[in-house]
Amino acid sequence: MINKLTKKNAITIIAGPCAIEDANQLDNVCKTINSLGLSWVRGGAFKPRVSPHSFQGLGAYGYDILHNIANKYSLLSLSEVVDTHSLSLALDKKIDAVQIGTRNMTNYSLLKDVGKITNITQCPVLLKRGMSSTVSEWLSAVEYIKENGNNNITLCERGIRTFDNTTRFTLDISAVPVVHKQSNYPICVDVSHAAGNSDIVPSLALAAIASGADAIMIEVHPNPKSAKCDGPQQLNLEQFKRLVDKMQKIAGSLEKELM
Ligand code: PEP
Ligand code: MN
Repeated sequence: MINKLTKKNAITIIAGPCAIEDANQLDNVCKTINSLGLSWVRGGAFKPRVSPHSFQGLGAYGYDILHNIANKYSLLSLSEVVDTHSLSLALDKKIDAVQIGTRNMTNYSLLKDVGKITNITQCPVLLKRGMSSTVSEWLSAVEYIKENGNNNITLCERGIRTFDNTTRFTLDISAVPVVHKQSNYPICVDVSHAAGNSDIVPSLALAAIASGADAIMIEVHPNPKSAKCDGPQQLNLEQFKRLVDKMQKIAGSLEKELM
């Protein structure tokens, strides 16, 4: 069976920490996701950081933790790949879906390799929008993966650079209807990297659902203050539960369910 990240009449919630730090951290997050009846967990093992001195992720061991704990709670797992080495590791370690981050949207040789290497499995690929890329450049980047053999792709709007720096990035909510109008690909909205701050994450998530997004990505950490990466934007488990409750109400009014 080929996994799909999204389903008609449903909104996929992809929640989890920015970076996988240890098994206990991920266990707490997965337990909560499972208790809410959701099905996907995210967590970074190879982290593309601005500074080489910042935490770079646990690497292959991070994928092991993600696979094992997702499995324990019957969840599907998604994690970023940054090159063919991490892609092979992610597939070997049975990560269920791979993410290409904003910094790699224009890494065309990686996009080609992802298409070729996932050709047989049709493993779901989440392609984030480059932070300075137009929608049309992004839709063109998708073709590199598709033309090389994998069309099981979900796009992900995660905020773009504008003159305004009130938020970490500017969430381009209009990308949701535009992508639906111009392509057949489902679209996810990553509200955490756009917001940069946890207090505005709920508003962006509700707006993204109302705009017609097929999936929402939210960073969640049992103790955001101690996070090794992106602490200020991560929701704690209680905040996440409250947000899921609100998202369920908006989704319900659109006759969709959260998954
Ligand atoms: C992430 O999702 O962990 C991430 C680094 O996102 P982005 O590529 O959007 O910055
Ligand atoms: Mn992050």
